[in-house]
Amino acid sequence: MPEDLEPGVIRKLDEVVVNRIAAGEIIQRPANALKELLENSLDAQSSHIQVQVKAGGLKLLQIQDNGTGIRREDLAIVCERFTTSKLSRFEDLAQIATFGFRGEALASISHVAHLAIQTKTAKEKCGFKATYADGKLQGQPKPCAGNQGTIISIEDLFYNMPQRRQALRSPAEEFQRLSDVLARYAVHNPHVGFTLRKQGEAQPALRTPVASSRSENIRIIYGSAISKELLEFSHRDDVFKFEADCLITQVNYSAKKSQMLLFINQRLVESIALKTAIDSVYATYLPRGHHPFIYMSLTLPPQNLDVNVHPTKHEVHFLYQDEIVERLKQQVEVRLLGSNSTRTFYKQLRLPGAPDLDESQAADKTQRIYPKELVRTDASEQKLDKFLAPLAKSDSGVSSSSSQEAPLPEESFRVAAAKKNREVRLSSVLDMRDRLEQQFSTQLRSILKNIVYVGCVDECRSLLQQETRLYLCNTRCFSEELFYQRLVYQFQNLSEITLNPPLPLKELLMLSLDSEAAGWTPEDGDKGELAASAAEILLKKAPIMREYFGLRISEEGNVESLPSVVAQHRPNVAHLPVYLLRLATEVDWEKEARCFDTFCRETARFYSKLDWREESAGSSRWTTEHVLFPTFRKYLLPPPRLRDHIFELTSLPTLYKVFERC
Ligand code: ADP
Ligand code: MG
Repeated sequence: MPEDLEPGVIRKLDEVVVNRIAAGEIIQRPANALKELLENSLDAQSSHIQVQVKAGGLKLLQIQDNGTGIRREDLAIVCERFTTSKLSRFEDLAQIATFGFRGEALASISHVAHLAIQTKTAKEKCGFKATYADGKLQGQPKPCAGNQGTIISIEDLFYNMPQRRQALRSPAEEFQRLSDVLARYAVHNPHVGFTLRKQGEAQPALRTPVASSRSENIRIIYGSAISKELLEFSHRDDVFKFEADCLITQVNYSAKKSQMLLFINQRLVESIALKTAIDSVYATYLPRGHHPFIYMSLTLPPQNLDVNVHPTKHEVHFLYQDEIVERLKQQVEVRLLGSNSTRTFYKQLRLPGAPDLDESQAADKTQRIYPKELVRTDASEQKLDKFLAPLAKSDSGVSSSSSQEAPLPEESFRVAAAKKNREVRLSSVLDMRDRLEQQFSTQLRSILKNIVYVGCVDECRSLLQQETRLYLCNTRCFSEELFYQRLVYQFQNLSEITLNPPLPLKELLMLSLDSEAAGWTPEDGDKGELAASAAEILLKKAPIMREYFGLRISEEGNVESLPSVVAQHRPNVAHLPVYLLRLATEVDWEKEARCFDTFCRETARFYSKLDWREESAGSSRWTTEHVLFPTFRKYLLPPPRLRDHIFELTSLPTLYKVFERC
């Protein structure tokens, strides 16, 4: 054992060295410094920010702005740690510190580089120039000429940290990172003009105009292949108290390189959780290994945000992170649904929305309902048959106004061409959509998106397959929800199914009272009077139904048209009388939001009842497979309660196990 082994002497580290190490944690490379400087210039309300660099910012990183400037008397202390003009009282700290104002940036830089500040405020007659080392002002600020604003020059970054300097050997790579940071801030702050220049080059490497827009800046910086595929939306969540402004590419666009520009409370940050979630939504649309372009700006209550988990404040955590990420994921999902054509996007920004191209094309063509489908079987069958007879009689049924043309002999229903898309502004309807978009289950949605229809078991149940799993689903519950949602999204834009001839409302209502479903008893009063008052209610509300839902009842009291909710689907008219009665009794006509909601629910209920009598079961099966299921896949945002109506029967691995045992 060597005897001269002595314990190392413990020394207190030199304060300058301690500060330098701490500063090196915060400023790890030129791009970190630039981020801090950009934020300072933006905080100082600049409208022009120009950056000049030499050797990727390692030799020189200079930023000039036209903001408020720094007061002369503050120049002595701006580079001391914990000096900031942004928090004055201790109580502010909790509020504002989370925005990233820690008064550390300039101090840190002065510990690892030669720092000079030249600045002029509006009040002072001349500007001042000051130099700093290790957090301290060197000499006195010198008066100088200059415009209002601040020029911060950082030279020889890490001159006193040779190892760090060594590690950053590639100026080209550092320049790329600087340019990336500047680009992101430029997209986020389109009202500010940014310029990035390599010293000695005539052309700027990057430039955005003042008073531009986000999508325009994306075009300038990232190219039109991205900007023309952008989908813009905002979302506000009152439960988890956040707002999001987003620009995301549609599924037509994809790139090998993943780009996510994320700002939280105006600061450029990263969130792996959010990025992973958004990527997973796109993964079902994009080829393997391809990614979207995403810009997101979130605003959260500052006290919910913890940026200080990382010294450079890059990676953030926030309160309710899982929930917020889930909501954002849903939003992206919703916006992408049905947006897989740019043409559709230009036609209608609101998605999933009014009929898309396929649907309106289908709607242009006349749909026919053949009279035999109008026959029904329940208690009031005979009366109804008699009553609906005109519709069923091919010769007398059509009174074609354009008599020149050959009459369409069997045409009793006709779908009018879709009207021009009208924008919905009623907050009650927008709220209904919001609710649907906030509440649906992404898990169910992804099952639905990938299902293969196997077959109908009976009028309510269908078998579905997804990969190796077999599901049983209650078709009726799913289609009721589908019709409801399509009504909500096509509000004011529904095509109409014209009834030819129109059907007398009052008689339909009389018929409905005869049906078991109405459950009429003598105590309820005279049928004739009941029918008359129901007719009166519906006549009074006819303008609402016509304007918003394409259900027309003429002043004379004839039902002239019904909404065409899903192209190629026609309601089973046998249930029309009870539907009308329920519109009079079950819809809350007094309050706007309730009225639309209950109207859509009742209508959805009516539309979801397919005709399963022997002679029509075949066509109902066809409709289920070729009309309803494709529309589920395309549009349905399944609420979590639908989980009770879809069961996994078995899966291949389970079956293998069974076979193994045999
Ligand atoms: P923080 O931004 O957290 O306050 P910094 O070290 O980044 O801390 O900046 C210290 C202070 O210097 C700021 O609070 C601000 O008053 C002033 N300052 C820095 N850069 C600028 C600028 N470009 N324009 C005006 N004032 C600035
Ligand atoms: Mg700062």
